[in-house]
Amino acid sequence: MSLFEQLKERSGSQCELCAVPDNLQVYEVPPKSIVGLDRSLLGCETCIGQIENPDTTDANHWRCLNDSMWSEHEAVKAVAWRMLSRLKSEGWSQDLLDMMYLEEETLKWAKETGEGEEEGEKIIHRDVNGVVLQNGDSVVLIKDLKVKGSSMVAKQGTAVRRISLDRENAEFIEGKVGPTQIVIITKYVKKI
Ligand SMILES: [Zn+2]
Repeated sequence: MSLFEQLKERSGSQCELCAVPDNLQVYEVPPKSIVGLDRSLLGCETCIGQIENPDTTDANHWRCLNDSMWSEHEAVKAVAWRMLSRLKSEGWSQDLLDMMYLEEETLKWAKETGEGEEEGEKIIHRDVNGVVLQNGDSVVLIKDLKVKGSSMVAKQGTAVRRISLDRENAEFIEGKVGPTQIVIITKYVKKI
């Protein structure tokens, strides 16, 4: 059964955020370093569109979170938390956030995209050309890099897929080269 079919079964063929039955698609909740059923939700075009383009966010649409934030699925809870955080200047959404309970691990995941943080406190990762990097992006190494603590050299031109960002330091990302998870300095990578 495809992920889409599994999500349809889980949700009863409706948007897991706003409950409409139309224009449903799979939304893989970023960062996409981990994927699968537990990391995805079934969303409608409106919800997914607004999640992905913050400029189009219509606060009233998200009153639906009043119900869906109580979902038993972590992916739905994480996205509900993110959207409530984005809208926290609305009184009602701050109230819902205060009521919401997330397991520590889910909360950490929900926070990974920096939703709701002030622009100034957000840590922005940029590649060698200044292009903003996100969790789940793929990059290519622009020079040979010695891998700390091993004799391995990661060659220039090596692609590193599904990177994850160091939330505390804008200079560092992590990703896999072959089977090895390594820390890479952002100025030595280019987004692909
Ligand atoms: Zn929806």
